[in-house]
Amino acid sequence: MKQIAIIGSGPAGCYLADNLLRLIADASIDIFDRLPVPFGLVRYGVAPDHQGTKAVARVLDRVLSRDRVSFFGNVEVGRDVQLEELMSLYDVVVLATGASRDRRLNIAGEELPGVVGSGAFVGWYNSHPDHQPPAIHGVRSAVVIGNGNVAIDVARILAKTSIELAGSDLSPDAMSWLEAQPLETIHIVGRRTAADAKFTDHELAELGTLQRARPIVQDSAALVGSGAVVETLRSFAQNKSRNASVRICFHFNLTPIAFLGDDRLGAVQFRSSDGATTEISAQFAVTCIGYETRPCGFANPTNGIFPNEEGKIRDRVYVAGWAKRGPSGTIPTNRGEAQFLAQKIAREALDSARPVRAGIRQLLEQRQICWVDYAAWRRIDAAELARAGGERCRTKFTSLAEMLDAAQAHQLRSA
Ligand code: NAP
Repeated sequence: MKQIAIIGSGPAGCYLADNLLRLIADASIDIFDRLPVPFGLVRYGVAPDHQGTKAVARVLDRVLSRDRVSFFGNVEVGRDVQLEELMSLYDVVVLATGASRDRRLNIAGEELPGVVGSGAFVGWYNSHPDHQPPAIHGVRSAVVIGNGNVAIDVARILAKTSIELAGSDLSPDAMSWLEAQPLETIHIVGRRTAADAKFTDHELAELGTLQRARPIVQDSAALVGSGAVVETLRSFAQNKSRNASVRICFHFNLTPIAFLGDDRLGAVQFRSSDGATTEISAQFAVTCIGYETRPCGFANPTNGIFPNEEGKIRDRVYVAGWAKRGPSGTIPTNRGEAQFLAQKIAREALDSARPVRAGIRQLLEQRQICWVDYAAWRRIDAAELARAGGERCRTKFTSLAEMLDAAQAHQLRSA
């Protein structure tokens, strides 16, 4: 039997497990997650109003439900169990821990109230237990830094009305905060040209369909080049007709150099490609410039990823997803990559006769670690669906205590 531990239950971990089950008839797979709930980026990164994308959770859930797979939620590797211990219990260990740390700009003022990274902001409006509400109010102008799809997500969530967000699983606290802001302008600012933007056209075009917001490009001369994204931006620049209470302004060729303000953000300072400096007044700024993976036990990231050779870190230790390649690609990218990595692992993994499932359970019980198994996760899932009011499809628990309560943690401890 091949005994495999996967750390991380997001798309990278679950797709890999699925492929390993197909390729290795006697694979037994334990999937660990530091949170009591699975699905990583799908639950906490994909925008709450994109339920079509979030529906992939059903596919991932089927993987967790398989006979040869066990879910160990609420178990943090490096805290509750060490990576070395997993290596002694399993034939193969895979890090699929994602990239949950916001990349920093490392410019003045980044710590000012009103400046947040997209991981923190997106995590918060997706009800992630680690993230707090922005500690500011009275946002009339927001600056979104970066020209990728996360910037579009953030701008769209800021721009949408509560009616447009109905049916989503946006956190109720986030809804209240958003409704309370007297928002007039959202600036989306890229450091390179429009043709260099990493938006996908579908996501960009959606900004042209919002109820109260109108996308505009102030400097239409900046729209050089071709391609679907530039064409969509041109159509925004030409559309003068729609009245809207919120403007979404695109800016290009502006590199952020400082966040200005005394006790909270007042403006963001940029340098343009001709060397001139310019300021955009703002009470809120979200940096959407990518993510880095966090250390996991003895594995330390370099340049935001775990150094690896085609997914291999060292003998019997592999890495998948954003922890392997950085924050790029879409969820299906992980499917193709998982196929490749599973083939590599199937070729290289050796059999063992370790009594692993008893081993990890014994270890966790000895340490009084209360883990959430698949049945307990389904209890959390059912409770979140049941508490959703008419306006949303799910109301997530925002604290570990609530999650463990819904998982009926007392039953887990005596299991
Ligand atoms: P991204 O696509 O890599 O975009 C990051 C943006 O940040 C780029 O415009 C980049 O500019 C800019 N940036 C990086 N460092 C900067 C700096 N120091 N100063 C100023 N700007 C800086 O990353 P993302 O938007 O975080 O998205 C991550 C991945 O998730 C992407 O593959 C994305 O497509 C995917 N995603 C998909 C969806 C969807 O399909 N609906 C939604 C969200 C995310 P440069 O280009 O100049 O480096």
